[in-house]
Amino acid sequence: MKFVLPKLGFGLMRLPRLEDGTIDVEQTKVMVDHFLDAGLKYFDTAYVYEGSEEATKKALVERYPRESYYLTSKLNAGDWAAKDAESAKKELEISLERTGAGYFDFYLLHALSKNNIDNYDKYGIWDFVKEAKAKGLVKHYGFSFHDQPEVLDEILTNHPDVEFVQLQINYADWDNPAVNSRKCYEVCVKHGKQVVVMEPIKGGTLANPPKQIRDIFEEADPNASVASWAVRFAASLENVMVVLSGMSNIAQMDDNISYMKDFKPFNEDEKAVIEKAQEVLRSIEQIPCTGCHYCTGGCPMQIRIPDIFTAMNQKLIFDNMEGASRRYANVTKDGGLASSCIHCLQCEDACPQHIEITSWLEKAAEVFE
Ligand code: SF4
Ligand code: SF4
Repeated sequence: MKFVLPKLGFGLMRLPRLEDGTIDVEQTKVMVDHFLDAGLKYFDTAYVYEGSEEATKKALVERYPRESYYLTSKLNAGDWAAKDAESAKKELEISLERTGAGYFDFYLLHALSKNNIDNYDKYGIWDFVKEAKAKGLVKHYGFSFHDQPEVLDEILTNHPDVEFVQLQINYADWDNPAVNSRKCYEVCVKHGKQVVVMEPIKGGTLANPPKQIRDIFEEADPNASVASWAVRFAASLENVMVVLSGMSNIAQMDDNISYMKDFKPFNEDEKAVIEKAQEVLRSIEQIPCTGCHYCTGGCPMQIRIPDIFTAMNQKLIFDNMEGASRRYANVTKDGGLASSCIHCLQCEDACPQHIEITSWLEKAAEVFE
């Protein structure tokens, strides 16, 4: 079955927040309205996105006919999210209750990698989602994936019924060995699976790339936003069914809508521009952190790892020591210095990008402390 959907999806992981840290539901409603008004339909939440499913209920489900949009959620059987088979399976019931959606159009096993695949097998989650589909609670199921292409190939060989795969694809990670977007995409093509793209802007990093890259894009098209190059790169891949953008405000959404409403794939000149940007990016060292926060929940020292890495990348990519130091001081003002790491390695086990977190923290301590 080939899914033909509007190509832009609304990732509900980074919704706008109020000062008290809760999701700004009123602002989310405005964003949902803009998105649907543009003829777009795909919304992506997850059991582990704090507050997101409840906000989705208020901003979307209670305000629009159920058949007017597609809603996706995810079941996470990783150790940090589910302690046993029962609690993992219970996530579907809880997600349905939180969203009030009645069913999910697309349902994913969340963030598969060789570190957690055993849990999905031993908890019987593959059969569980098939049963959920037979009951109509889930229309289609797939999985999101954070590992190397060989692992993906093995999973798709063992589970040929999977209907789609969600992958991290962006022009910066296309040939990045830690992510291997291109090879993973090719594995999906080989198995005849369509792809949902996550992190097309690499957690926001590619909306603010190094000056050399910004210059390349602005010279090629002064009217296109820098982020548009990243989103259109992913959407131009033939086997991609939807590209998720984790929009946090109306400005980002309106920019995305402006070029994705009537999406046109890259032409040959635009492909050459991206190749030039990739070449420049390869020459700059940086930490490939997407800000997913999977590493922080279990850190015994409450180290704000992705925030420290943002500061470190500001230094590495932009050589902005003043701004980076200010950011580091702000992130660590209540404790959690990079040097307080006790090397328990919980974070490295949880990191889908396989970043050597402890060694980068040592470097951050050297630079900032
Ligand atoms: S290795 Fe360090 S940063 Fe990672 S979880 Fe342990 S204490 Fe926290
Ligand atoms: S270090 Fe890894 S787990 Fe932590 S936020 Fe970055 S990418 Fe995610």
